[in-house]
Amino acid sequence: MVSCRGPPRRRGPPRRITGVTRSIRPLPAVLLAVVLTACSGGVHGSPGGQGVRDPYFPRAGNGGYDVAHYGLTLAYDPGRHRLTGTAVITARATQDLSAFDLDFKGMTVDGVTVEGNGARWNRAGQELTVRPRSDLERGETFRTTVRYSGTPETLTDPDGSKEGWLRTADGALALGEPTGSMAWFPGNHHPSDKATYDIAVTVPQGLTAVSNGEPAGETTRNGRTTFSWHTGQPMASYVAMVAIGHFDLTRTALKNGLTAYVAVDRTQTEASRQVLAQLPDIMEWEEYNFGPYPFSSTGAVVGPEGSAGYALETQNRPVFPGAPETGTLVHELAHQWYGDSVTPASWRDMWLNEGFATYAEWLWREDHGGQTAQQTFDQLYRGDYYDDPEQSKAIWAYPPAKPSSAAHISDSPVYERGAMVLQKIRQTVGDDTFYDIIQGWAAARRHGNASTADFTAYVQKKAPHKDFGPIWRDWLYGDGRPEHP
Ligand SMILES: [Zn+2]
Repeated sequence: MVSCRGPPRRRGPPRRITGVTRSIRPLPAVLLAVVLTACSGGVHGSPGGQGVRDPYFPRAGNGGYDVAHYGLTLAYDPGRHRLTGTAVITARATQDLSAFDLDFKGMTVDGVTVEGNGARWNRAGQELTVRPRSDLERGETFRTTVRYSGTPETLTDPDGSKEGWLRTADGALALGEPTGSMAWFPGNHHPSDKATYDIAVTVPQGLTAVSNGEPAGETTRNGRTTFSWHTGQPMASYVAMVAIGHFDLTRTALKNGLTAYVAVDRTQTEASRQVLAQLPDIMEWEEYNFGPYPFSSTGAVVGPEGSAGYALETQNRPVFPGAPETGTLVHELAHQWYGDSVTPASWRDMWLNEGFATYAEWLWREDHGGQTAQQTFDQLYRGDYYDDPEQSKAIWAYPPAKPSSAAHISDSPVYERGAMVLQKIRQTVGDDTFYDIIQGWAAARRHGNASTADFTAYVQKKAPHKDFGPIWRDWLYGDGRPEHP
């Protein structure tokens, strides 16, 4: 058997075939003609899956390939609320592919090429299906270019919150947890596929465009300015971000050598000043507790008041809809370790993000003259942490590792009860081992993905003589309020 080949393409690393040595010998001319005929129909590839079987968002992500890099070139005109974009997606095929999907919602697709050749495509819901001119071979690296334009959509999540492209008075915020990034660029929009990014955004002169990573150039021509940003460490698409507006962008060198890029909407400068001044101290405290910072820059973006319904841990620099509070800044920066660097394998594992970030707030209070994490735990267990009895009861609605539905992945069982699981581990192993565990976990899974089962196995390995069974059973997976605190 010989493999069918399309036009020459860049290739990924050679694939390993156990026990077989493959060699390619020149074929006799007659046989070659037969092979070419057989191959012209693209006979051996099959379509990649329309989703990666996420238990909460089954259409999110796509099967059959793994993205290495996104090159996004965007231009936005806030007056006309019009976005044009080119996405160059470099990916490796994980199977022989006759077609593959990208997640993309709204906008108009103006053209698709694969390896420079025009490709057929069609759209159904959030699936943009691309059929390259010839099949892609498992292991090969291929480049897909999608050109698009139109009015980007604001998406409403199952829990009613808004994401995707959020318009502001003078610009926009583009956010993506859990699935909003598909409103502003086509991609493999599931946390399990992380990639590096180059994002360039052109806006009318006078506005600023901020994104993830570090600045990589700024040019102004014909009344429009292009801001380029480079993200060199793997990033899940749900923490990719663009913020456009009248921002003051400051650079601060931290003691550890990193630069903090902080962009503040001009209406929020005064209100944010005090809290943002704490960013270097929070970073230092978090590195002390969680281990080395996983990325090459940090910072924050403070958008106009109410520009989003939530703060979000966008990579390198979280986004805040108006001046943040200290606890929120601590929470979103802690996500850089837990969520952005160690990313959940699926949306079921969201407590690995939110339990840790919430616990970071408890620890911050404990270390800064407030109540201890154990006191917070006890209040939540007794039911007097919140004034509202309904809110107190809500944390027992379902177990952290089994959210009841997609509409509830951002509810208090994932956050507060997730943090309670960490306090239970700390009670069991003591402070020394506990900090070893949370730092070791961030190091062991740095820039990767992990599931709840990976975490429980890791904890057990770090404290082999302790019995965590009851914690997992009652606190992580068990229904209702556990019998004992
Ligand atoms: Zn969070």
